[in-house]
Amino acid sequence: MARLNWGMIGGGEGSQIGPAHRISAGLDGHFHLAAGALDVDPARGKAYAEKLGIAPDRAYGNWREMLEGESGRDDRIDLVTVATPNSTHYEITKAFLENGFNVLCEKPMTMTVEEAEDIVETVRNSGKICAVNYGYSGYAMVRHMRAMVARGDLGKVRLVKAEFAHGFHADAADADNPRIRWRYDPAQIGPSAQFADCGIHALHLANFVSGQESQSLSADFISAIDSRTLEDDAMVNVRLDGGAVVRLWTSAVAVGRMHGLGVQVFGEKGGLRWEQEHPNQLYWTPVGGRTEILERGAPDLSPEADRASRVTIGHAEGMPLAFANIYADLAEVISAAKEGRTPDPVAMSYPTAEDGLRSMAAIRSAVDSASGNGAWTDARPPSMRG
Ligand code: NAD
Repeated sequence: MARLNWGMIGGGEGSQIGPAHRISAGLDGHFHLAAGALDVDPARGKAYAEKLGIAPDRAYGNWREMLEGESGRDDRIDLVTVATPNSTHYEITKAFLENGFNVLCEKPMTMTVEEAEDIVETVRNSGKICAVNYGYSGYAMVRHMRAMVARGDLGKVRLVKAEFAHGFHADAADADNPRIRWRYDPAQIGPSAQFADCGIHALHLANFVSGQESQSLSADFISAIDSRTLEDDAMVNVRLDGGAVVRLWTSAVAVGRMHGLGVQVFGEKGGLRWEQEHPNQLYWTPVGGRTEILERGAPDLSPEADRASRVTIGHAEGMPLAFANIYADLAEVISAAKEGRTPDPVAMSYPTAEDGLRSMAAIRSAVDSASGNGAWTDARPPSMRG
C-alpha cells in the first residue's frame, strides 16, 4: 500500500482530540501528515503545523485556503480530518467532499438532521468517502463483540445496555467556567448537550455491536445543575429494527465515574460485557455457564478482532489504537479505490456519513421526546423511513 497524504483541520496545539488523531493516523505508516489548517488563529495554526513537520506552503491559515491550495496540487491530500468545533463540521465537510476529497469528520457530523441528510446526498454525488469518528467502534474487542453477535453466538439479541456517564461537569460552583458553560449553551451546541456529545457514542456502539439500527425512542432529560438549560443527564430507551431494545444512560454529573463508556449485549444464548476503561477484556457468559474472560490478542478470536490488534496479548491497547483502526480501514478503502481493486471486506466496518445522519435523527428524536414527557418518537432519519 503506497503512503497516503493526509490533512487536518482543527486539532491545533492544546486541543483535546487533535493529538489522538495524529497518533492514530501515523501509527501504521499509511498516512503522512502533509497539510493542515490546525487552529482558529491562522498564525498559531501555521506555526504549529510547521512544528509538526508540515511544509510551509501546506501550513494553511484557514480551511478555505487549504481547500484552494490542495485542490490545485498533483499530490493533493487523500484524506482530510475535520476536528474543529461542531458548528463548523457541516460547511467544511461539504466543501471538501464537493471538491473530490475523502473526509473523516468528528462527531456530531452536523448540527441538524437536514444538514446531515445533505452530507449523505453530497457523498452519494461525489463518490467520495465520508467517515464519522465513532472511534470507539475501532476497539478490537468491540469488533469481536460485533462478530460474535453476527455469527450467532448469542442467538437472538434481546437487550443492549449502553452507558457513557462521566462526572466532570458535576461541580455547580464551576458551571460558569467558560470551558464548560459553552457545552450547555443552545446557541453554540444545539438543542441537546450530554446526549449529543456522549450519548450518541453509546448509541452508535449499541447499534454497531447488535447490527441493528434505531427505530424509535423515549427519552428523559434532566439538568441536574439549575443554571443549565440543556440536559446534563439522560436516560433513553430505544427500540431497534431487529427487535432488540437499548437501555442507554448518559451523564456528566456521575461523580466518580471517569470516561464511563461501556456496552453489554444480552441474547437468548448468552451475554457479553465490555468497558472502555478495560478495553482488552471482553466478558462472555453462555446461558447456564460460567463467565469467561476473552483477552485481546488471544489466538482464537475473530478475523475482525485479529485485524484490529497490534501488540501481543497481555499488553494494553487503548483509545489511540482504536482510532488507528478507523484510519487503517480508511487507508485500505482509499488505496483500493486508487488501485482499482476491491477493498478487504473486513475494512468496511468504519462509521459512515449514514451513521452520522442516524445520530442526528436520534438527537432530534430524543429532544422531542424529552420535551414531550418521554413520548415515543420516530428515531429514523426522514430519508430512511420505509
Ligand atoms: P477543542 O476546543 O479542544 O479544539 C478545537 C481545535 O480546533 C482548536 O485547536 C481550535 O483552534 C481549532 N479550530 C476551531 N475552529 C477552527 C476553524 N474554523 N478552522 C481550523 N481550526 C479551528 O475541541 P475538541 O475537544 O478537540 O473537539 C473538537 C471536535 O472533536 C468536536 O466536534 C468534538 O465533539 C469532537 N470530539 C470527539 C471525540 C471522540 O471521541 N470522537 C472526543 C473529543 C472531541
